[in-house]
Amino acid sequence: MADLTDWLNNIPELDGARCVEVGHDVFFPGQGENDLVRQARAICAQCPAAAACLAHYINETDGIYAGTTGRQRAAMRRHTRKEQTSGRY
Ligand code: SF4
Repeated sequence: MADLTDWLNNIPELDGARCVEVGHDVFFPGQGENDLVRQARAICAQCPAAAACLAHYINETDGIYAGTTGRQRAAMRRHTRKEQTSGRY
């Protein structure tokens, strides 16, 4: 699992990341903590680094990145693979 504190130190594209102001827990909600998921998504929606964040963390299985859950990112990866194998990519 990535640590949010790595972001500013190691990924210049994520300068201005909104999550740094909020703290780690909001972005790693437990099962059923839907309020935290909504809160994280609202923060990501205002983040200038969202595109770089999603590109960097597309393979992460846990946490909210660029407003996406691990399940949503897995679906994105499957969709991309399907597009690539069908020659439409
Ligand atoms: S999009 Fe969300 S998780 Fe990604 S850097 Fe911005 S606030 Fe953090």
